[in-house]
Amino acid sequence: MNSAIHDAVIVGGGPAGAASACLLAKAGRSVVLFEREAGPHHKVCGEFVSVEAAAYLERLGLDLFRLGAQPIHSVRLVRGSAESSSRLPFPAFSLSREVMDEALLRAAADRGAEIRRGVAVRSLAEGEDRVTLQADGPVAARAALLATGKHDLRGHRRPPGSINDLIGFKQYLTLAPEQAARLAGHVEVLLFPGGYAGLQPAADGRANLCLVVAKPVHDRVGRRWDRLLDHLCEESPAFAARLAGATTCWERPLSIYGIPYGFVHRGDTASRRLHRLGDQLAVIPSFCGDGMAIALHSAFLASDRVLAGQAPLDGSAFAGQIRTATLLAQAIRRPALQGIAAGTVRLVPGLLKAIAYATRVPQQAIP
Ligand SMILES: Cc1cc2nc3c(=O)[nH]c(=O)nc-3n(C[C@H](O)[C@H](O)[C@H](O)COP(=O)(O)OP(=O)(O)OC[C@H]3O[C@@H](n4cnc5c(N)ncnc54)[C@H](O)[C@@H]3O)c2cc1C
Repeated sequence: MNSAIHDAVIVGGGPAGAASACLLAKAGRSVVLFEREAGPHHKVCGEFVSVEAAAYLERLGLDLFRLGAQPIHSVRLVRGSAESSSRLPFPAFSLSREVMDEALLRAAADRGAEIRRGVAVRSLAEGEDRVTLQADGPVAARAALLATGKHDLRGHRRPPGSINDLIGFKQYLTLAPEQAARLAGHVEVLLFPGGYAGLQPAADGRANLCLVVAKPVHDRVGRRWDRLLDHLCEESPAFAARLAGATTCWERPLSIYGIPYGFVHRGDTASRRLHRLGDQLAVIPSFCGDGMAIALHSAFLASDRVLAGQAPLDGSAFAGQIRTATLLAQAIRRPALQGIAAGTVRLVPGLLKAIAYATRVPQQAIP
């Protein structure tokens, strides 16, 4: 048992937790971060790194190109056999989460944070002058940062979001050479009844296919990944062409259930020492590709508060962005509205750019 009181304990070593460990350790605070996974691991994520996320990662010392980031300059919206392409109003990247999360944890360790891998935190209690967590033993600190992402810690469960019935999947693919060439530099968003999918280039000639699908649609295809892909290809000849001749890189896809899209933490006046960040503070629908920017932005804001001894942040800074994104996500799941959305985007080429701006962490908010 360690009886020392740390300045901060961080639960979760995703972008939110690792970034705050970097910032607090760099400021000279004693920081312990717990990450339940023992080593590098893939995560269900489209791996679209927005310009805001890239700016934060560079400020934390990451060299994105050295880590294998692929530039993304355009978005292509696909529905049925129709496609419409638009140049992104900002540079973006595709970067493996396995690589990125690991690089952030290394950066935190280099700055002096103690990183405890393969240790799951089981509970966290806030007292008058400290927080105490239970992991492989009790640990006490003056502040705790809750950054467990999609996973809720017992006693700190988030309420449901506005959309709770989607299942997320991710699979790496090797595309046929001519299809890989057509995908280069693009993130493709496929709208299909009951969900949407993102496809973009990944390192080493692979492509990342990440999608969310409503549970009833998943049930209808017998909860089988191969049948789900067939369903997508039947819905979209353009998508079928992209996947023709593709091979899967993993035996089975990664999956995640019950993501509370639209959740925004409303604050807890009783809490003085427990700071929520990343997906524990606010969850944006995935198609926006801004979850990592929110995770990093909230890590910078929360770390400032911990350093200044201020009360925890609530999610209001992200509420407008998340409301807009959630309304759009609800709309584009409906087949009739998908057709209208795809048609409008073709007729109004600037629309995708306007949507991109409305659903992002504003660049002027980056400290
Ligand atoms: C289908 C899908 C696609 C997405 N696509 C994109 C995209 O393209 N671009 C984008 O920017 N965002 C995307 N996101 C969102 C993005 O993945 C998240 O917003 C981001 O990962 C949140 O970071 P985080 O640090 O809060 O949590 P996470 O990245 O989830 O990290 C949390 C960490 O905490 C650890 N942990 C959990 N419980 C415990 C415990 N009890 N003890 C110790 N450790 C624990 C976990 O192992 C994990 O490593 C997507 C999300 C989904 C679901």
